[in-house]
Amino acid sequence: MVRRRQLFEGKAKVLFEGPEPGTLVAYFKDDASANNNQKQGVIIGKGVINNRISEYLMVRLGEVGIPTHFVRRLNMREQLVRAVEIIPFKVVVRNIVAGSLAERFGMEEGKPLPRSIVEFYFKDDVLGDPMVLEEHITAFGWSTPQEIDEIMSLSLRINDFLCGLFMGIGIKLVDFKIEFGRLWEEESMRIILADEISPDNCRLWDLKTSEKLDKDRFRQDLDRIEEAYQEVARRLGILPEGNPGDFQGPHLVQ
Ligand code: UDP
Repeated sequence: MVRRRQLFEGKAKVLFEGPEPGTLVAYFKDDASANNNQKQGVIIGKGVINNRISEYLMVRLGEVGIPTHFVRRLNMREQLVRAVEIIPFKVVVRNIVAGSLAERFGMEEGKPLPRSIVEFYFKDDVLGDPMVLEEHITAFGWSTPQEIDEIMSLSLRINDFLCGLFMGIGIKLVDFKIEFGRLWEEESMRIILADEISPDNCRLWDLKTSEKLDKDRFRQDLDRIEEAYQEVARRLGILPEGNPGDFQGPHLVQ
């Protein structure tokens, strides 16, 4: 077996040096964590499902012109991605009140927002990922105003597309977190989506019952966590044991 150089181990993924220059291999683990690592556990089969869900969503986003780091799936738990210079803040897009927004403003979960809200959080586990303003981002030199405009515009396009895609399979996209990176190509630089999109970093509620189909089941000690992840994959028409060409496509819900 060829030994690969491990570059980074995160909470849900391991990154290895890729087979070609400028690439990385992302390995999706079953490990789950919540509340800034205070709660840890394993969601059996999550890595396999998230690898497929993320691949599916990246490919669909690519088709509508959103640049992403995804190159191709390698096996059940691994995908090849482009190496980027990570931009050190997370972007959260919200459509419905939930999670930290509900807590911060004492609002009830489930209230649709009159328009989507985009928030930025500094990536720092020790500090607990504090929320930051554009002012902090530019003053601390994490990004330029032009890059922030591009990140905002990409985030809203991703949100619009994903809202429609999930709506078609009877799921409300409540909110999600994404990250971006800089891809250097000769003299030019592009901002691209450089993160997974899966029930680990989205809130996904059943359209009719508002049942949670995402990592909140783990955060809140609810049952049927594995089933929730499987249900999202099933509705997207993705079978974990299949090949890249086997996508059946989403099962539309009337
Ligand atoms: N999220 C994430 N990683 C983080 C923080 C948030 O994936 O480090 C996702 C989370 O799953 C949810 C959305 O971003 O879909 C908004 O999370 P929120 O700010 O409400 O924080 P939480 O309630 O997860 O602490």
